[in-house]
Amino acid sequence: MSLDNSDIRLQFPTLLQEVNHRTLVYLDSAATSQKPNRVIERTDAFYRNQNAAVHRGVHHLSAKATEMMEDVRDQVKTFLNAANREEIVFTHGTTHAINLVANSFGQMAMGLGDEVIITEMEHHANIVPWQLLEKSIGIKVVVWRVESDGTLNLDTLRDLLSDKTKLLALTHISNVLGTVNPVKEIIELAQINGTKTLIDGAQAVMHQRVDVQALGCDFYVFSGHKIYGPTGIGVMYGRKELLDMMPPWEGGGAMIEEVSLTEETTFNSAPWRFEAGSPNVAGVIGLGEAISFVEEIGFDFIQRYESNLMASAIQRLSQVPDLQIYGSLNKSGVLAFNLGDLHPYDVGSFLDRYGVAIRTGHHCAMPLMKRYRVPGMCRASFAIYNNKEDIKSLCEGLERVHALLLS
Ligand code: PMP
Repeated sequence: MSLDNSDIRLQFPTLLQEVNHRTLVYLDSAATSQKPNRVIERTDAFYRNQNAAVHRGVHHLSAKATEMMEDVRDQVKTFLNAANREEIVFTHGTTHAINLVANSFGQMAMGLGDEVIITEMEHHANIVPWQLLEKSIGIKVVVWRVESDGTLNLDTLRDLLSDKTKLLALTHISNVLGTVNPVKEIIELAQINGTKTLIDGAQAVMHQRVDVQALGCDFYVFSGHKIYGPTGIGVMYGRKELLDMMPPWEGGGAMIEEVSLTEETTFNSAPWRFEAGSPNVAGVIGLGEAISFVEEIGFDFIQRYESNLMASAIQRLSQVPDLQIYGSLNKSGVLAFNLGDLHPYDVGSFLDRYGVAIRTGHHCAMPLMKRYRVPGMCRASFAIYNNKEDIKSLCEGLERVHALLLS
Protein backbone atom coordinates (compact mmCIF):
# COMPACT_ATOMS: atom_id res chain seq x y z
CA MET A 1 0.00 0.00 0.00
CA SER A 2 1.45 3.37 -0.95
CA LEU A 3 1.78 5.77 1.97
CA ASP A 4 0.57 8.84 0.15
CA ASN A 5 -1.83 11.26 1.84
CA SER A 6 -1.84 14.07 -0.72
CA ASP A 7 -5.52 13.55 -1.62
CA ILE A 8 -6.45 13.56 2.04
CA ARG A 9 -4.51 16.74 2.78
CA LEU A 10 -6.27 18.62 0.01
CA GLN A 11 -9.58 18.06 1.75
CA PHE A 12 -8.57 20.39 4.59
CA PRO A 13 -9.13 24.03 3.59
CA THR A 14 -7.43 25.47 6.70
CA LEU A 15 -4.15 23.93 5.58
CA LEU A 16 -4.20 25.78 2.27
CA GLN A 17 -3.62 29.21 3.83
CA GLU A 18 -0.44 31.16 4.38
CA VAL A 19 0.72 32.25 7.83
CA ASN A 20 3.53 34.80 7.96
CA HIS A 21 4.01 34.42 4.18
CA ARG A 22 4.50 30.66 4.35
CA THR A 23 2.10 27.81 3.80
CA LEU A 24 0.79 26.85 7.20
CA VAL A 25 2.44 23.86 8.83
CA TYR A 26 -0.13 22.73 11.37
CA LEU A 27 1.35 20.56 14.11
CA ASP A 28 -1.21 21.21 16.84
CA SER A 29 -3.81 18.54 16.15
CA ALA A 30 -3.66 17.18 19.70
CA ALA A 31 -5.18 20.50 20.79
CA THR A 32 -7.72 20.41 18.01
CA SER A 33 -7.74 18.79 14.60
CA GLN A 34 -8.56 20.60 11.38
CA LYS A 35 -11.82 19.72 9.63
CA PRO A 36 -12.20 18.19 6.19
CA ASN A 37 -14.57 19.87 3.71
CA ARG A 38 -17.17 17.14 4.14
CA VAL A 39 -17.55 17.84 7.87
CA ILE A 40 -17.81 21.59 7.25
CA GLU A 41 -20.29 21.04 4.41
CA ARG A 42 -22.39 18.56 6.37
CA THR A 43 -22.71 20.97 9.29
CA ASP A 44 -23.48 23.83 6.91
CA ALA A 45 -26.15 21.73 5.15
CA PHE A 46 -27.78 20.92 8.47
CA TYR A 47 -28.11 24.58 9.40
CA ARG A 48 -29.23 25.55 5.87
CA ASN A 49 -31.84 22.90 5.29
CA GLN A 50 -32.46 20.63 8.20
CA ASN A 51 -32.19 22.67 11.40
CA ALA A 52 -34.81 21.78 14.02
CA ALA A 53 -35.02 20.93 17.70
CA VAL A 54 -34.96 17.18 18.24
CA HIS A 55 -37.17 14.81 20.27
CA ARG A 56 -40.91 15.10 20.74
CA GLY A 57 -41.34 17.24 17.63
CA VAL A 58 -44.36 16.31 15.53
CA HIS A 59 -43.32 18.26 12.48
CA HIS A 60 -41.30 16.90 9.60
CA LEU A 61 -38.03 18.76 10.24
CA SER A 62 -37.94 17.83 13.91
CA ALA A 63 -38.64 14.17 13.24
CA LYS A 64 -35.93 14.13 10.56
CA ALA A 65 -33.36 15.85 12.80
CA THR A 66 -34.16 13.39 15.60
CA GLU A 67 -33.67 10.48 13.24
CA MET A 68 -30.35 11.85 11.97
CA MET A 69 -29.09 12.41 15.50
CA GLU A 70 -30.12 8.95 16.66
CA ASP A 71 -28.50 7.45 13.55
CA VAL A 72 -25.20 8.94 14.69
CA ARG A 73 -25.69 7.23 18.04
CA ASP A 74 -25.80 3.93 16.13
CA GLN A 75 -22.75 4.99 14.16
CA VAL A 76 -20.76 5.76 17.32
CA LYS A 77 -21.90 2.44 18.80
CA THR A 78 -20.41 0.65 15.78
CA PHE A 79 -17.30 2.86 15.78
CA LEU A 80 -16.49 1.91 19.39
CA ASN A 81 -17.95 -1.59 19.04
CA ALA A 82 -20.25 -0.98 21.98
CA ALA A 83 -22.83 -3.68 22.67
CA ASN A 84 -25.84 -1.33 22.80
CA ARG A 85 -26.80 2.02 21.30
CA GLU A 86 -28.04 3.06 24.77
CA GLU A 87 -24.44 3.00 25.95
CA ILE A 88 -23.60 6.09 23.89
CA VAL A 89 -24.17 9.43 25.65
CA PHE A 90 -23.56 12.67 23.77
CA THR A 91 -21.68 15.25 25.82
CA HIS A 92 -19.98 18.58 25.10
CA GLY A 93 -16.58 16.87 24.98
CA THR A 94 -14.14 14.81 27.02
CA THR A 95 -14.10 17.23 29.95
CA HIS A 96 -17.88 17.22 30.22
CA ALA A 97 -17.95 13.41 29.90
CA ILE A 98 -15.47 12.92 32.76
CA ASN A 99 -17.39 15.36 34.93
CA LEU A 100 -20.53 13.38 34.16
CA VAL A 101 -18.91 10.13 35.32
CA ALA A 102 -17.46 11.82 38.42
CA ASN A 103 -20.76 13.36 39.44
CA SER A 104 -23.11 10.55 38.52
CA PHE A 105 -21.12 7.33 38.96
CA GLY A 106 -19.04 9.01 41.69
CA GLN A 107 -22.10 10.02 43.70
CA MET A 108 -23.64 6.58 43.22
CA ALA A 109 -20.70 4.30 43.86
CA MET A 110 -18.26 6.18 46.06
CA GLY A 111 -18.19 7.59 49.54
CA LEU A 112 -15.91 8.74 52.31
CA GLY A 113 -12.52 7.03 52.13
CA ASP A 114 -13.08 5.35 48.75
CA GLU A 115 -10.27 5.75 46.27
CA VAL A 116 -9.89 6.78 42.63
CA ILE A 117 -6.55 6.01 41.00
CA ILE A 118 -5.36 8.42 38.31
CA THR A 119 -1.94 8.60 36.70
CA GLU A 120 0.62 11.37 36.84
CA MET A 121 0.28 11.86 33.09
CA GLU A 122 -3.40 12.85 33.12
CA HIS A 123 -4.81 15.95 31.48
CA HIS A 124 -6.34 18.31 34.04
CA ALA A 125 -9.73 17.14 32.75
CA ASN A 126 -9.03 13.77 34.36
CA ILE A 127 -7.61 15.21 37.58
CA VAL A 128 -9.75 18.10 38.71
CA PRO A 129 -13.20 16.40 38.61
CA TRP A 130 -11.83 13.77 41.03
CA GLN A 131 -10.30 16.45 43.26
CA LEU A 132 -13.69 18.16 43.39
CA LEU A 133 -15.22 14.86 44.48
CA GLU A 134 -12.50 14.59 47.09
CA LYS A 135 -13.74 17.90 48.51
CA SER A 136 -17.45 17.19 48.20
CA ILE A 137 -17.79 13.58 49.37
CA GLY A 138 -14.43 12.76 50.90
CA ILE A 139 -13.02 10.28 48.39
CA LYS A 140 -9.25 10.03 48.04
CA VAL A 141 -7.36 10.58 44.79
CA VAL A 142 -4.42 8.17 44.58
CA VAL A 143 -1.71 8.92 42.03
CA TRP A 144 0.03 6.29 39.92
CA ARG A 145 3.41 7.90 39.22
CA VAL A 146 5.05 7.57 35.80
CA GLU A 147 8.49 6.14 35.20
CA SER A 148 11.23 8.46 33.95
CA ASP A 149 10.68 7.28 30.36
CA GLY A 150 7.03 8.33 30.64
CA THR A 151 5.59 4.83 30.87
CA LEU A 152 3.48 3.22 33.58
CA ASN A 153 4.73 0.27 35.64
CA LEU A 154 2.03 -2.33 36.20
CA ASP A 155 3.66 -3.54 39.40
CA THR A 156 3.18 -0.08 40.86
CA LEU A 157 -0.52 -0.35 40.05
CA ARG A 158 -0.71 -3.76 41.75
CA ASP A 159 0.56 -2.08 44.92
CA LEU A 160 -1.93 0.79 44.66
CA LEU A 161 -5.06 -1.28 44.08
CA SER A 162 -6.96 -2.15 47.24
CA ASP A 163 -10.49 -2.93 48.32
CA LYS A 164 -11.00 0.83 48.62
CA THR A 165 -10.28 1.43 44.91
CA LYS A 166 -13.60 2.11 43.24
CA LEU A 167 -12.32 3.55 39.97
CA LEU A 168 -9.18 3.68 37.89
CA ALA A 169 -9.28 6.64 35.48
CA LEU A 170 -6.47 7.01 32.99
CA THR A 171 -5.60 8.28 29.57
CA HIS A 172 -5.29 5.92 26.61
CA ILE A 173 -2.59 8.04 24.97
CA SER A 174 -0.75 10.83 26.81
CA ASN A 175 -1.47 14.27 25.34
CA VAL A 176 2.09 15.28 26.21
CA LEU A 177 4.38 12.30 25.80
CA GLY A 178 2.39 10.37 23.21
CA THR A 179 2.81 7.23 25.34
CA VAL A 180 0.29 4.57 24.40
CA ASN A 181 -0.72 2.98 27.68
CA PRO A 182 -1.36 -0.78 27.75
CA VAL A 183 -4.97 -0.15 28.70
CA LYS A 184 -6.19 -3.70 28.10
CA GLU A 185 -3.72 -5.16 30.61
CA ILE A 186 -4.41 -2.31 33.02
CA ILE A 187 -8.17 -2.85 32.80
CA GLU A 188 -7.68 -6.57 33.46
CA LEU A 189 -5.80 -5.80 36.67
CA ALA A 190 -8.53 -3.41 37.76
CA GLN A 191 -11.24 -5.95 36.97
CA ILE A 192 -9.55 -8.62 39.08
CA ASN A 193 -9.67 -6.11 41.92
CA GLY A 194 -13.36 -5.31 41.29
CA THR A 195 -12.43 -1.76 40.28
CA LYS A 196 -14.31 0.08 37.52
CA THR A 197 -12.35 1.80 34.75
CA LEU A 198 -12.62 5.04 32.83
CA ILE A 199 -10.42 5.52 29.76
CA ASP A 200 -9.79 9.03 28.47
CA GLY A 201 -9.63 8.46 24.73
CA ALA A 202 -9.26 12.13 23.72
CA GLN A 203 -5.88 11.47 22.09
CA ALA A 204 -6.54 7.93 20.94
CA VAL A 205 -9.66 7.82 18.78
CA MET A 206 -8.13 9.61 15.81
CA HIS A 207 -5.07 7.36 15.70
CA GLN A 208 -6.26 3.83 16.38
CA ARG A 209 -9.31 1.62 16.40
CA VAL A 210 -10.96 1.46 19.79
CA ASP A 211 -13.04 -1.57 20.70
CA VAL A 212 -14.63 -1.01 24.09
CA GLN A 213 -15.81 -4.60 24.40
CA ALA A 214 -12.35 -5.99 23.66
CA LEU A 215 -10.85 -3.51 26.13
CA GLY A 216 -13.44 -4.34 28.76
CA CYS A 217 -13.56 -0.78 30.12
CA ASP A 218 -16.60 0.57 31.94
CA PHE A 219 -16.37 4.11 30.55
CA TYR A 220 -14.61 5.48 27.46
CA VAL A 221 -14.73 9.19 26.62
CA PHE A 222 -13.61 11.37 23.72
CA SER A 223 -14.11 14.75 22.01
CA GLY A 224 -15.39 15.29 18.48
CA HIS A 225 -13.03 18.15 17.72
CA LYS A 226 -9.98 15.92 18.12
CA ILE A 227 -11.20 13.48 15.49
CA TYR A 228 -11.80 15.92 12.61
CA GLY A 229 -15.28 16.80 13.93
CA PRO A 230 -16.87 19.93 15.36
CA THR A 231 -16.15 21.49 18.75
CA GLY A 232 -18.74 21.27 21.51
CA ILE A 233 -19.57 17.61 20.98
CA GLY A 234 -18.18 14.52 22.64
CA VAL A 235 -19.05 11.02 23.70
CA MET A 236 -19.27 9.14 26.95
CA TYR A 237 -19.53 5.40 26.43
CA GLY A 238 -20.72 3.66 29.58
CA ARG A 239 -21.62 0.01 30.12
CA LYS A 240 -25.39 -0.32 30.03
CA GLU A 241 -25.73 -2.04 33.35
CA LEU A 242 -23.92 0.88 35.01
CA LEU A 243 -25.71 3.64 33.09
CA ASP A 244 -29.06 2.09 33.99
CA MET A 245 -28.20 2.44 37.67
CA MET A 246 -26.54 5.84 37.55
CA PRO A 247 -28.51 8.90 38.71
CA PRO A 248 -28.83 11.98 36.52
CA TRP A 249 -26.27 14.70 36.99
CA GLU A 250 -27.59 17.71 35.11
CA GLY A 251 -31.29 18.46 35.27
CA GLY A 252 -33.51 20.04 32.66
CA GLY A 253 -35.54 19.24 29.59
CA ALA A 254 -35.23 15.92 27.74
CA MET A 255 -33.75 14.05 30.70
CA ILE A 256 -37.10 13.68 32.48
CA GLU A 257 -40.09 11.36 32.29
CA GLU A 258 -42.62 13.27 34.46
CA VAL A 259 -42.05 16.58 36.15
CA SER A 260 -44.27 17.49 39.05
CA LEU A 261 -44.25 20.27 41.56
CA THR A 262 -46.08 18.15 44.09
CA GLU A 263 -44.90 14.59 43.42
CA GLU A 264 -41.38 13.34 42.83
CA THR A 265 -40.02 14.11 39.35
CA THR A 266 -39.08 10.96 37.43
CA PHE A 267 -36.36 10.57 34.86
CA ASN A 268 -35.86 9.31 31.33
CA SER A 269 -33.90 6.12 30.68
CA ALA A 270 -30.21 6.14 29.75
CA PRO A 271 -28.65 7.60 27.66
CA TRP A 272 -31.22 10.42 27.41
CA ARG A 273 -31.26 10.78 31.21
CA PHE A 274 -27.73 12.18 30.83
CA GLU A 275 -28.50 14.58 27.97
CA ALA A 276 -30.27 17.49 29.66
CA GLY A 277 -31.35 20.44 27.52
CA SER A 278 -31.37 20.99 23.76
CA PRO A 279 -28.56 18.89 22.35
CA ASN A 280 -25.91 20.05 19.92
CA VAL A 281 -27.60 18.43 16.93
CA ALA A 282 -25.31 20.02 14.33
CA GLY A 283 -22.34 18.84 16.38
CA VAL A 284 -23.65 15.29 16.52
CA ILE A 285 -24.23 15.25 12.77
CA GLY A 286 -20.78 16.74 12.11
CA LEU A 287 -19.28 14.09 14.38
CA GLY A 288 -21.03 11.39 12.36
CA GLU A 289 -19.50 12.78 9.18
CA ALA A 290 -16.05 12.93 10.81
CA ILE A 291 -16.33 9.29 11.86
CA SER A 292 -17.33 8.34 8.30
CA PHE A 293 -14.26 10.23 7.04
CA VAL A 294 -11.97 8.27 9.36
CA GLU A 295 -13.66 4.95 8.64
CA GLU A 296 -13.37 5.47 4.90
CA ILE A 297 -9.63 6.07 5.17
CA GLY A 298 -9.43 3.10 7.54
CA PHE A 299 -7.32 2.61 10.64
CA ASP A 300 -4.95 0.25 8.81
CA PHE A 301 -3.81 3.09 6.61
CA ILE A 302 -3.98 5.71 9.40
CA GLN A 303 -1.77 3.68 11.72
CA ARG A 304 0.75 2.73 9.06
CA TYR A 305 0.94 6.27 7.74
CA GLU A 306 1.18 7.95 11.13
CA SER A 307 3.71 5.56 12.64
CA ASN A 308 5.92 6.06 9.61
CA LEU A 309 5.58 9.83 10.05
CA MET A 310 6.35 9.62 13.78
CA ALA A 311 9.46 7.52 13.09
CA SER A 312 10.78 10.08 10.64
CA ALA A 313 9.94 12.96 12.99
CA ILE A 314 11.92 11.32 15.81
CA GLN A 315 14.78 10.51 13.47
CA ARG A 316 14.96 14.03 11.99
CA LEU A 317 14.43 15.83 15.33
CA SER A 318 17.29 13.89 16.90
CA GLN A 319 19.59 15.68 14.45
CA VAL A 320 18.60 19.11 15.80
CA PRO A 321 21.34 20.16 18.25
CA ASP A 322 20.44 20.41 21.95
CA LEU A 323 16.94 19.05 21.41
CA GLN A 324 15.55 16.76 24.06
CA ILE A 325 12.52 14.57 23.37
CA TYR A 326 10.52 13.58 26.47
CA GLY A 327 9.32 10.09 27.23
CA SER A 328 9.83 6.74 25.54
CA LEU A 329 10.14 6.88 21.77
CA ASN A 330 7.23 4.51 21.38
CA LYS A 331 4.72 7.27 20.69
CA SER A 332 1.50 7.90 18.89
CA GLY A 333 0.49 11.26 17.46
CA VAL A 334 2.22 13.47 19.99
CA LEU A 335 5.82 14.43 20.61
CA ALA A 336 7.07 16.80 23.33
CA PHE A 337 10.52 18.36 23.43
CA ASN A 338 12.59 21.30 24.58
CA LEU A 339 15.41 23.06 22.78
CA GLY A 340 18.38 23.62 25.10
CA ASP A 341 17.27 25.76 28.00
CA LEU A 342 15.08 27.97 25.85
CA HIS A 343 11.64 28.71 27.16
CA PRO A 344 9.06 26.79 25.11
CA TYR A 345 7.11 30.00 24.60
CA ASP A 346 10.09 31.58 22.79
CA VAL A 347 10.60 28.50 20.62
CA GLY A 348 6.91 28.40 19.70
CA SER A 349 6.80 32.13 18.92
CA PHE A 350 9.81 31.89 16.62
CA LEU A 351 8.38 28.86 14.85
CA ASP A 352 5.15 30.76 14.29
CA ARG A 353 7.14 33.37 12.36
CA TYR A 354 8.08 30.56 9.99
CA GLY A 355 4.46 29.47 9.66
CA VAL A 356 4.92 26.43 11.91
CA ALA A 357 2.18 25.96 14.51
CA ILE A 358 3.13 23.94 17.57
CA ARG A 359 1.83 24.14 21.13
CA THR A 360 3.87 25.30 24.09
CA GLY A 361 3.31 25.40 27.83
CA HIS A 362 2.04 22.91 30.39
CA HIS A 363 -0.47 21.23 28.05
CA CYS A 364 -3.01 21.03 30.87
CA ALA A 365 -0.72 18.51 32.53
CA MET A 366 1.01 20.54 35.24
CA PRO A 367 1.81 17.49 37.43
CA LEU A 368 3.69 15.94 34.51
CA MET A 369 5.70 19.16 33.99
CA LYS A 370 6.62 18.99 37.66
CA ARG A 371 7.63 15.34 37.23
CA TYR A 372 10.08 16.39 34.50
CA ARG A 373 11.08 19.54 36.41
CA VAL A 374 10.33 21.89 33.52
CA PRO A 375 8.03 24.92 33.35
CA GLY A 376 6.67 23.70 30.05
CA MET A 377 7.41 21.81 26.87
CA CYS A 378 7.07 22.31 23.13
CA ARG A 379 4.66 19.85 21.57
CA ALA A 380 4.30 18.84 17.94
CA SER A 381 1.33 16.66 17.17
CA PHE A 382 0.41 14.89 13.97
CA ALA A 383 -2.73 13.94 12.14
CA ILE A 384 -3.50 12.14 8.91
CA TYR A 385 -3.03 15.36 6.86
CA ASN A 386 0.59 15.96 7.94
CA ASN A 387 3.52 14.90 5.80
CA LYS A 388 7.30 14.74 5.79
CA GLU A 389 7.53 18.28 4.41
CA ASP A 390 5.87 19.46 7.64
CA ILE A 391 8.54 17.68 9.66
CA LYS A 392 11.25 19.21 7.51
CA SER A 393 9.80 22.70 8.10
CA LEU A 394 9.59 22.06 11.85
CA CYS A 395 13.20 20.88 12.06
CA GLU A 396 14.56 23.64 9.83
CA GLY A 397 12.66 26.16 11.95
CA LEU A 398 14.14 24.69 15.12
CA GLU A 399 17.63 24.79 13.62
CA ARG A 400 17.15 28.47 12.81
CA VAL A 401 15.96 29.15 16.36
CA HIS A 402 19.00 27.30 17.64
CA ALA A 403 21.34 29.31 15.42
CA LEU A 404 19.70 32.57 16.51
CA LEU A 405 19.38 31.99 20.23
CA LEU A 406 21.78 29.26 21.27
CA SER A 407 24.84 29.30 19.02
N1 PMP B 1 -7.93 14.52 27.93
C1 PMP B 1 -6.92 14.58 27.06
C2 PMP B 1 -5.90 13.47 27.04
C3 PMP B 1 -6.81 15.66 26.20
O1 PMP B 1 -5.79 15.73 25.34
C4 PMP B 1 -7.80 16.67 26.24
C5 PMP B 1 -7.71 17.90 25.34
N2 PMP B 1 -6.45 18.47 25.24
C6 PMP B 1 -8.84 16.55 27.15
C7 PMP B 1 -8.88 15.46 27.97
C8 PMP B 1 -9.92 17.57 27.23
O2 PMP B 1 -10.67 17.57 26.05
P1 PMP B 1 -11.77 18.69 25.78
O3 PMP B 1 -11.10 20.00 26.04
O4 PMP B 1 -12.13 18.49 24.34
O5 PMP B 1 -12.89 18.44 26.72
